[in-house]
Amino acid sequence: MIDLRRIYLDHAATTPVDREVLLEMLPYFTRFYGNASSLHSDGGVAHEALEKAREKVAEVINAEPDEIIFTSGGTESDNLAIKGIAYKNKDKIKGKGPHIITSSIEHPAVLETCKFLEKEGFKVKYLPVDRDGIVKLDILEKSITKNTFLISIMAANNEIGTIQPVEEIGKIAKDYDIIFHTDAVQTIGKMPMDVKKINVDMLSISGHKIYAPKGVGALYVKRGVTLQPILNGGGHERKLRSGTENIPGIVGLGKACELAKKRMSKDIQHIKNLRDKLIKGILENIEKSYLNGHPEKRLINNAHFRFTAIEGESLIMDLDEKGIAASTGSACSSKKLQPSHVLLAIGLTPVEAHGSLRLTLGRKNTKNEIDYVIETLPKVVNRLREISPLWKK
Ligand SMILES: *Cc1c(COP(=O)(O)O)cnc(C)c1O
Repeated sequence: MIDLRRIYLDHAATTPVDREVLLEMLPYFTRFYGNASSLHSDGGVAHEALEKAREKVAEVINAEPDEIIFTSGGTESDNLAIKGIAYKNKDKIKGKGPHIITSSIEHPAVLETCKFLEKEGFKVKYLPVDRDGIVKLDILEKSITKNTFLISIMAANNEIGTIQPVEEIGKIAKDYDIIFHTDAVQTIGKMPMDVKKINVDMLSISGHKIYAPKGVGALYVKRGVTLQPILNGGGHERKLRSGTENIPGIVGLGKACELAKKRMSKDIQHIKNLRDKLIKGILENIEKSYLNGHPEKRLINNAHFRFTAIEGESLIMDLDEKGIAASTGSACSSKKLQPSHVLLAIGLTPVEAHGSLRLTLGRKNTKNEIDYVIETLPKVVNRLREISPLWKK
């Protein structure tokens, strides 16, 4: 049932396709449907669109167009980056336990890829984070061995919104001559990302987190970095990602990146203002409510709360009934009803973790919507607490 007053506050899970993005894509389904590899002029039109989109994606992170590889999304980009470099390095340091460093709060696309590689003989260090979710740099540096070939640490966390010190990590990686990959799925358009400044070798992007469609993404691979492909076939995308290119999706991703760049300062102002108002309103109006994640070093659109004696899932259901779309931890793990690995890593108990709520804002949210949430959420929390055996006044 769609409520007309629906308030969508789950932009970290996915975003709507921007109208301008959709309009840019449409002709590529029915009119310019050529295969970018074809030699005829229909193929040429598709090829041109592909390269134009590549320029736009490159521009948003200050990369060169030939450093952009189109993929099916953030998950594939993370897999290609990590497995691609791992398989390339396996033989170089055979028998010595090739070593990867990552963090304990990565997205499953990184964590599960690392766990998979552990079964294949790779060694992985999962770095701890502090209470705010920031990776401990001293432990990072101490963890480096002569077999470390990759550091993969996300630019910002999808659950609690904490922004990592990627420039410092990039500097350490460079000092030790180690490849640095960052999952920047959550940061594009929300803060400046400059691959030259960060000193990063690979960077993952996903379309549907930045107002482009689902099922398209990109991996930045710095010139000179060589990967082993994980998909074999016709040799598309510099032989790194075979498969006929998803031209409409890629055109959409290009447009979304162009808009992300063009609108960033406006977005930051609008969204951050609303987010700050939301955080203040909730912390002031609900007793025993806390903010998870770093108070300042956090994504402009992320508000992540914890309420004593509240069960996150009931909260989501009640908010949904009131027309508010929210999330417990991360969308990927919230259906499993297991405490989020991110919340456990920042030191919350499983019970505390269960009482958490993530609200992530987007371009279209309004002040009225946020006022409604500030008015509604305390009522919902109070009602749940009234019937909770855990709540002692
Ligand atoms: C959503 C997300 C992904 C996965 O991207 P998909 O395009 O959905 O595969 C990876 N990393 C982070 C941080 C994400 O938020």
